[in-house]
Amino acid sequence: PATESKRLRIAMQKSGRLSVDSQALFASCGLKINLREQRLIAHVENMDIDILRVRDDDIPGLVMDGVCDLGIVGENVLEEESLQRKMDNDSFDYTVLKRLDFGGCRLSIAVPQEEDYTGVASLDGKTIATTYPRLLARYLKEQGVNARIVNLKGSVEVAPRAGLADAICDLVSTGATLEANGLKEVDVIYRSKAVLIQRKGLTDSKQLQLINKLMPRINGVMQANE
Ligand code: ATP
Ligand code: ZN
Repeated sequence: PATESKRLRIAMQKSGRLSVDSQALFASCGLKINLREQRLIAHVENMDIDILRVRDDDIPGLVMDGVCDLGIVGENVLEEESLQRKMDNDSFDYTVLKRLDFGGCRLSIAVPQEEDYTGVASLDGKTIATTYPRLLARYLKEQGVNARIVNLKGSVEVAPRAGLADAICDLVSTGATLEANGLKEVDVIYRSKAVLIQRKGLTDSKQLQLINKLMPRINGVMQANE
C-alpha cells in the first residue's frame, strides 16, 4: 500500500533468557518503550521503531522472510533454523550486525553420570535426544558417528531417565540442570551468544539511517560494559 509504514521493526523474545538483556540494550540506546502492556507490538515513543515481542524460535524466520527488519536471537536458534531452511530450500539470508555480550551458552552432549564415555565414537549406534537436530546431525556427520536423533521440544534432560534416549544434546550454562538430572557434560558441540541480525534487501533510506544511528550506540554500550 502507498501508506506503507517505514517504521523499523525489531523482533525480540517476549519472555525468557534473552528478553531482559534485549530490553536493557534498547533502553541504553535511548529507545523509549512502554513494555508494561502485554502487547505483541510495542511502539517506541521517540523513534520510528516498533518492537515485536515473540517466541525466540520465530525470530530467525521473521527476519529471513523479511517480515521484521532486525531481530535479537541466540546463534544456536539462528543456526538451527538456517540449516533447516537450507534443507527445505527456503530462504535463509540475513546479516549479523553485532555479536552481543549476553545469552552466552553452549550446546553440549551429556550422558548419564555412571556412563564411562571415552569420546564421541562411544555414541555410535546410540540414541540422542535434542531440540537442535540439525546442529547435532552436522556435528555427528563431521565426527563420522552414526547415532539416532530424537527431536524433543522440551524436557530433553529427562529423556535418558525416561528411557527415551541414551544421551542428550542440550544447552548448558552452569551445568546445574544436568547434574540435577544425573547427567554429565562430555562434549561441547556449539558455543552461542545472542546476535543482532538484519534482513537482506533492506533499502529504505530512513530505516538505514535509523540503523546507522543505533549501531554506534550499541557499540558504545558494549564498550562501556567491558
Ligand atoms: P520461548 O518461550 O521464547 O520459546 P525458550 O524457552 O525457547 O523461550 P529460553 O530458555 O528463554 O528459550 O532461552 C532463550 C535463549 O537463551 C536460548 O536459545 C539460548 O540462546 C540462550 N541461553 C543462554 N543460556 C541458556 C541456558 N542455560 N539454557 C538455555 N538457553 C540459554
Ligand atoms: Zn524457544
